[in-house]
Amino acid sequence: MSYVLDSSVLLSGKDLLLDDMYCTPEVLREVRSKGPTVQLMSMIETKVEVRSPSEEAMAKVSELAGKTGDVKRLSPTDIGVLALAVDLQATILTDDYSIQNVADEMGLAYRGLSFPNIQKKIEWGYRCKGCGRHFDEWKKECPVCGSEIRTTPKTISRISSASSDKNE
Ligand SMILES: [Zn+2]
Repeated sequence: MSYVLDSSVLLSGKDLLLDDMYCTPEVLREVRSKGPTVQLMSMIETKVEVRSPSEEAMAKVSELAGKTGDVKRLSPTDIGVLALAVDLQATILTDDYSIQNVADEMGLAYRGLSFPNIQKKIEWGYRCKGCGRHFDEWKKECPVCGSEIRTTPKTISRISSASSDKNE
């Protein structure tokens, strides 16, 4: 299994015990600009292989990010991370919600480091079995027709606990 790391994951300073780790030259430049520790740089130099994504993959990711509307929230570095994952068929390690969202759309595997991945949040509502009226509060029986009330999922929305620690 190969992994593509973004700069927030590298800058977390966690010693990642994974075999095939990759990042892009832009990610490495971002990490360097943040004044990393000697330990972090030596971890990266010994364990993380730096590779540029193909132009083809860059174009593919940019196009899709444009469709999902995430392109405004993605930096060129973020797009590079996604594109390299396309090239290598790798899992992306990122805590960035927009990267995770586009990865999801593209069917790419991803994992968060400090936060759980995007989760689906379900809000429950109540609905009469007889007349089909919806209620926000649970009732023993329908005030209109007297039928049984059932619990149904009202809305399913996505929540993200992704960090606000966005790169530039
Ligand atoms: Zn009813």
